[in-house]
Amino acid sequence: MNNHSSVAESASANRASANRAAVTTGASSATAAAADAAKVTEPAAAPPANQDALNTKTLKQIFQLSPIGMTILDLDGRFLSANQSFCDAVGYAEYELIALSFKDLTHPEDVPLLCSLGEQLLAGKRQHFQIETRHWSKDEKPLHVGLTVTMVRDGYQRPICFLLQVINLTAQKWMEAQLRHRAFYDGLTGLANRALFVNRLEQAVIRLERNTSAQCAVLFLDLDRFKVINDSLGHNIGDKLLSALAGRLEACIRRCDTLARLGGDEFAILLEDIDGLEDAIMVCDRIHNSLKTPFKLDKYEVFANISIGVVCSSVGYEESSDLLRNADTALYRAKAQGGACHTIFDQTMHQRAVALWQMATQAQFAVQREELTLHYQPVIDISNRRVLGVEALIRWNHPQYGAISPGEFIPVMEETGVITMIGKWVLREACQQICQWQQQLPHHDPIKLNVNLSARQLAQKDLAEQVNTILKETGLAHKHLRLEITETAIMQNLVEAIKVLQELRALDVCLCIDDFGIGYSSLSRLQQLPIDILKIDRSFVQNIGAKGENTEIVRTIIDLANSLGMDIVAEGVETEAQLEGLRALGCQNVQGFYFAKPMTPDIALEFIKKSNQ
Ligand code: C2E
Ligand code: MG
Ligand code: MG
Repeated sequence: MNNHSSVAESASANRASANRAAVTTGASSATAAAADAAKVTEPAAAPPANQDALNTKTLKQIFQLSPIGMTILDLDGRFLSANQSFCDAVGYAEYELIALSFKDLTHPEDVPLLCSLGEQLLAGKRQHFQIETRHWSKDEKPLHVGLTVTMVRDGYQRPICFLLQVINLTAQKWMEAQLRHRAFYDGLTGLANRALFVNRLEQAVIRLERNTSAQCAVLFLDLDRFKVINDSLGHNIGDKLLSALAGRLEACIRRCDTLARLGGDEFAILLEDIDGLEDAIMVCDRIHNSLKTPFKLDKYEVFANISIGVVCSSVGYEESSDLLRNADTALYRAKAQGGACHTIFDQTMHQRAVALWQMATQAQFAVQREELTLHYQPVIDISNRRVLGVEALIRWNHPQYGAISPGEFIPVMEETGVITMIGKWVLREACQQICQWQQQLPHHDPIKLNVNLSARQLAQKDLAEQVNTILKETGLAHKHLRLEITETAIMQNLVEAIKVLQELRALDVCLCIDDFGIGYSSLSRLQQLPIDILKIDRSFVQNIGAKGENTEIVRTIIDLANSLGMDIVAEGVETEAQLEGLRALGCQNVQGFYFAKPMTPDIALEFIKKSNQ
């Protein structure tokens, strides 16, 4: 037993005090004690005949056979005798115990209380006591027991020995500890969970109230595209990634900071006692740096990006929930900016979020005030660099906050449902525009139009009818319209979506899968869908290196599209090298900043004229 020596020392020190009490009684042997113990229960009058059987031998047998652990200690606390249950619990044989004192097996923190209660028994202040104590077994396993200690006295009320009854609570305590742990820790990563994080945050905010010069920061983290990893590599790898990520995050903070997994791929960090925002930013940088090396998960090498929302405590935060909510708001912004970055919360962000919400519920006014406009990004034919068509992309120019990206406001519009109205407006506006251009460019091949559809729009049963009406009203040829839908939008309600897509297809409208490769679709699902064009997500295109590396996924997507008779458009081409890489893979059409950013209608028209002359 590691702690034996120190326990023995404290035990002998305590023994000295116990000795003082022992002086008046003297020590007694095990047999004498057991015999005297029997005496205590012996009535003064002559025993009834059937109790003759309760002789010393029988009593010893009962003692031995009891399923409750029992031991007898002398007045110094040394073992005199122990039954089998007790020996089983502590792992010692009875003869080994005889050489030991009870304190030798007891947690040092529990010894003083035991001694003091023991002295109360000796002094006759009580007859017995019950207590929960901690001990070690012979093989150094911790034991948690419920102990009942009874003072055994002789006929003259002189103390003879202590009788200890021991119930082993170790398994129960372990279970309780597990339950407590489960209530406050995340099972997968072992990190604090949301409940514990919120609790620590509340404590931190209370401390800040007392010490107004101190500062803390909350970081809200969310893995970018975790769903893709989970869906493509499997949940097992997803779980391993979360665990490994927890380890890396832990290495980026101090021991006094709290790292928690709030659920799914969401984590939070509480940085206490920081000097200011710079400290929080330093942690963000450290985290982003630590993710530059891929995770090795089984046979895969996985790169993970993370978005972080940061909020610093400042005077006026009464509620810890404000801090968490604001960190979440900042995270939302980081995500809308494309992820893999951190954003710091400021008050305008909150006002902005409110404005977003207002706009999302009253979008028709934004249209009337001409705050919502359409920009157009060309789709280029690689073989001759001519503009084949354009994608209409919505823009919102807020009078107070300036340009707000669709990545930020489209999800809010989705949530409020206003997207269906705005989507109709986009379609009508864009169809009119393209018709006008087609008339202005009579000698060109007709420019095609790509319009994005959201999940909510796709869920409308009369979508095909709406599209048909708008095409009729504006006069755009059906075959010149290409509707873009993300895999996610389709998979949200596959059965209904397939029906609507078939109706659209029946109108002779072209259908594209947007951002292909990052959503849910298993490749086999694709065959079920009436799709004409795959738009490869820009995250794959941007990984293509100058020497043509990282082309495997793109090659697979192109082969797949070819085998299903679909056309390909690669999104997000920014460099000549990416363009050449795509050309080598047999991709025909591209879109990206390398050729043009989304442009206002006037500039877009000029661009088309110049490219297609
Ligand atoms: P999307 O449909 O995939 O559109 C392409 C996005 O990639 C556009 O972002 C475009 O500006 C950007 N992009 C194009 N080339 C490059 C490049 O070379 N590099 C980089 N880094 N980015 C490039 P934008 O305009 O911010 O739109 C974001 C998303 O918002 C769109 O993604 C689309 O899903 C949605 N969206 C835009 N307009 C509408 C709309 O009218 N209706 C609906 N439902 N969604 C829309
Ligand atoms: Mg699109
Ligand atoms: Mg796209």
